[in-house]
Order: sequence, then C-alpha cells, then structure tokens
Amino acid sequence: MTDVNTINVAESTDQTQDLPKMELPASKYVILIGDGMADLPIDDLGGKTVLEKARTPAMDHLAKLGELGRVLTIPDGFPLGSDVANMSLIGYSPKKFYTGRGPLEAAAMGIQMNPEDVAFRCNLVTLRFREGRVYMEDYSAGHISTEEAHMLIEDLAPLVASRSFGLFAGVSYRHLLLWRGGPEGISTVPPHDFTGMDVTEAWHIYEEEPLLYELLTKAITFFHRHAVNEKRRAEGKPPANALWPWGQGRRPLFATFSQLYDIDSAVVAAVDLIRGLGVWAGMEVINVPGATGYLDTNYRGKADAALRALKEKTLVLVHVEAPDEAGHMGNLREKIRAIERFDKEVVGPVMDGLRDMGGSYRILVAPDHYTPVSLKTHGPGPVPYVIYDSLSPKDNSDATFSEPAAEQSPIMIKEGHKLMERFIGVTPREVELNPKKKASEQKIVRPN
Ligand SMILES: [Zn+2]
Repeated sequence: MTDVNTINVAESTDQTQDLPKMELPASKYVILIGDGMADLPIDDLGGKTVLEKARTPAMDHLAKLGELGRVLTIPDGFPLGSDVANMSLIGYSPKKFYTGRGPLEAAAMGIQMNPEDVAFRCNLVTLRFREGRVYMEDYSAGHISTEEAHMLIEDLAPLVASRSFGLFAGVSYRHLLLWRGGPEGISTVPPHDFTGMDVTEAWHIYEEEPLLYELLTKAITFFHRHAVNEKRRAEGKPPANALWPWGQGRRPLFATFSQLYDIDSAVVAAVDLIRGLGVWAGMEVINVPGATGYLDTNYRGKADAALRALKEKTLVLVHVEAPDEAGHMGNLREKIRAIERFDKEVVGPVMDGLRDMGGSYRILVAPDHYTPVSLKTHGPGPVPYVIYDSLSPKDNSDATFSEPAAEQSPIMIKEGHKLMERFIGVTPREVELNPKKKASEQKIVRPN
C-alpha cells in the first residue's frame, strides 16, 4: 500500500473478543453512496430522471439481479442534510443519534471530544457592518485558500485559546471551535443559507453567550489588521474578517460496527462529514490521493482503495460527493457525467474486484438524498436503493437503477436506518450506551 494513507481512528473494542463470533450471511460487504444522485423527471430529458438518462450498466446490472426498493433517509422534521441522510444510510437513527454537524467534522479532524464538550463548525466569513446592521457578504470569505486560512486561524488560536475554547484550522473556510463544557442550546444558523442577507438578528444571538461573543469580537479586531486580509483587500478579494460558529453539538454516542455486527470496517470518503460518521461508527478512515469531494475526484482511486481495504476488512463504505456538487450547480451535463463516472469507475470495478476475490458478497448502492438540478438544493422523499447478494441473485429482468424503477418495487423502508440491518442480514447486538464512557467501554447487553 504505497498510495493510500490510513488513519487508524477506531478505538479498541477488546470486550467484543470474549463474545461468540456472529454468523454473517456474506463474507464481504460494500456500500456505495452517490451523494445527491436522486433527481426529478426533467423535460429536456423527455421526462426522464438523470439516473434514467445516464449510461449506468453496472448499477442497472445490480438492479436486475438485486433487491430494488426505496428508503426514507431523512425523518420528517429533520433538515434535508447529508449529515442526517448518511447517518441513516449507515444504520444509525438520526432521531436517536444526531447531535449536529460540528461533532462529525471534529471527529474527521481527529479532535478528541469529552462528553461535556460542544463542537461548532466555524466558518471564516466576510461580514459587512453598515449603519448598525450586519450582512453576510460571503459565507466562505471568497473560498479562501487553506494556506491563508491557516495563517489567520493559527495566529488567532493562541489569543483565544483557554481552558474553555480550542480553535482548530481545517480546509479553506471550514474550521472548528471546541467549547469545553460549553452549552449547546444557542440557536445558530448556517451562513451559506444567508449569502448577501441581513444577519443582524443571528449575530446578536451570539451575545446570549458572553464568553463566545467575546471570542468572536476579538477575532474581528484581530482579523481586521492581519496581513492576510490587507493583501486580500489589495487584491480585491473579500477579507476573512469574522468567524461564524454553527452546527454545534455534543459528541454522538454510537455503538461501533464491531460491537453491533462483529464487523471490521473502513470508509473511503473525501468529505469530512462522512469521514466523521465513519470515525464515530468505529471505521478505519482511508485517505485516497486526489479524492477531492468535487467533480474532479479520483473515482478509480476510491474503488481501488476499497478493494485493497477489503482484503482485511469485512465491510467498506465508499462515498462520492460529485453528483451532489453538480446538482447544486444546476448543471445537468455535469450531473450525468458524475453519475456515469461513479458507475464506470467505482461501481463496475468494485463488482469485478469482489467477483475476482471469490467469496460471497453483498453490495448496497444508494444516493443519500435528492439534489435535483432544477432545485439546485436538496429535496425530500424516499431514494432508490439496490442490494445485491451474490449468493441469491434475483431476476427483475426489466429493472434499471432509477427512481421510477424503484417506485415499482413494493419495498419501502420508512425508517432509513433499518436498511443497514437488512443489508448485513443479521440482528445487531444490543449495546447499552453510557454517555460518560468511551465507545470501547460500552456494555453489550444482548450478544447475538
Ligand atoms: Zn448529501
């Protein structure tokens, strides 16, 4: 393994070693998630959806031989986010386990959280203060470069670091604020929903927490004079003149795949949210060079990394962000291309690789949610999924992998997190979760 770096983040799960081995119906499992692949019928495509229009022989093959159905990944009342949808897909009920985006990103960044800590996603933003009002000029400070952002965050961090606060630099405008022993109740808003808008009310809400507000005002004074911003202003770029914390929560309490299913697992994903979900679920996080979370991602590198990981692991999850990005851009051609590349360079090679390995296997393919190009944002509703089992192929000769084909299926999983149990094919062990304890110390009350 020369081109794949691995971070071993799974905590030890020693106590599971004393339990009887679980009997799994397949020897390998692969989950392939095409973020935001699901779409609506489009007039320019003669009323077809993008999945119907795109050439996807690998996924169609799975649909012909597998179980095609629909799964509701976002429970009623939850925001239409990738964090919630992917949490369901990997088998954890958002109603029970969702605490916010912050703690997922903290885990992906390798930041340790204690039960009393609160993690905020913290954007570098451009605010404009005018006549007593505050405006969100840019939620990303002009997609500031990681290098510039690190100078700002790393210079500020020692000035605001205390027993209470830790500020951690991430990628581009995406950083993390850890408030040790902090409250989680404050009501924050995601800055990308307010581009160009008056955010005076949202800004004043931070005043409810004087310690946090003091940190934010310190940051404004400090960033104003910082050389990085002087340079950005001179170049006509928006200065990163403020921090905007949001999406906060305490650490989620997950039983791991090893505790639940006796399964050793890994995740291949470029996006911090998914990597963070993997960390909390006890998966090994695998880095793939050139995996960007964008349209130009290294599709084939992800498939190869998954197949290498499968030599040791029982289950590997591969997540590809590109279809979602194309959907947000409202770019039909790019969305078709992203789905075709996902099919050809990820689904196909993974199918071939598993067949060549010789043992039994199951593959699950699904989008996490809708990102219709006509809406340029996430949409609601159950998404299509297919589960292929090499030991018992089905015969749906006319099926293809698409939304309308899945609608023909009688199978509808209303509680999305239950799909994982169906996929793996065993009842998970019951784990008594104690928020005061680490993942590895949770008690398994009903072995299986
Ligand atoms: Zn998503």
